[in-house]
Amino acid sequence: MKKVKINPHLKHLTIDHLYHLGLDTGMDLKKMFGDVRFVCMGGSADRARAFAEQLVKEFDGSSRDLKPIGKTERYTLYKVGPVISAAHGIGMPSLSVFMHEITKLLHYAACVNPVLLRIGTSGGIGLEPGTVVVTEEALNAGLEGFYELFILGERKRFSARFNHGINAQIMLANKSLRVVSGKTVAANCFYEEQTRLDGALDPGYTEIDKMVFLKRAYDLGVRNFEMESLQFGAFCNRAGLEGAVICVTLVDRLKGDQITATPEALSRYSERAQQAAINFIRTRLAL
Ligand code: URA
Repeated sequence: MKKVKINPHLKHLTIDHLYHLGLDTGMDLKKMFGDVRFVCMGGSADRARAFAEQLVKEFDGSSRDLKPIGKTERYTLYKVGPVISAAHGIGMPSLSVFMHEITKLLHYAACVNPVLLRIGTSGGIGLEPGTVVVTEEALNAGLEGFYELFILGERKRFSARFNHGINAQIMLANKSLRVVSGKTVAANCFYEEQTRLDGALDPGYTEIDKMVFLKRAYDLGVRNFEMESLQFGAFCNRAGLEGAVICVTLVDRLKGDQITATPEALSRYSERAQQAAINFIRTRLAL
């Protein structure tokens, strides 16, 4: 049984308030969450709900009314059988707070070998929109393979290389979907760090500069841009948690910056990433 590498200071807290989730250790977290085996997360609360509804259809067979657990001011969390479906907001700072609190929750609930999946959307490089990318390694927007934090005023760097075993299982469970594996750039901005030319500010680079950068990233193995995988991967590695990032592409950045797909197409794309996660969960549960 794999245990979360948890902060030893926590044992000095009488009650730990998982403030942003609206949960605390005065509650019976073992009873509420002890059977959780998968935590699936994405940026948006709407998608977390849609995924929870999908889980109900796939695993539960009922048409029960879904209600979020805890607070919904910052994050949203549903539980369907052994799966949590949650929204972590946009970007690494928002995800970081969520990762700390959800990991403490898994620890206090004594969950056994939980798997964390980030199921998101992204901008692809050289891929048909709707392609699902499983992240091998996350890079920052400087194309460097580490997540950087300042701790006690000192620069700390953490690798965000993903577990090969879980990625191989995801690929195997999704042979019939258009799924590729590649590196992911986790940017701190949707616009300039993703070399878009359609932000509000003059970016100081041209279409040619942009294409040179995208080509350089592609040659390094980068297949998509999003805004969280670096923090997510580095956190999972530090905590000793099994984690993977499964993102669908909404646009091919070699062809443009704007996301112009219809709402129907976007929702179909999102469903593809969710389906890839469900196919993997089904295989894992069968093992
Ligand atoms: N999310 C991103 O961060 N970038 C995109 O291009 C699409 C979704």
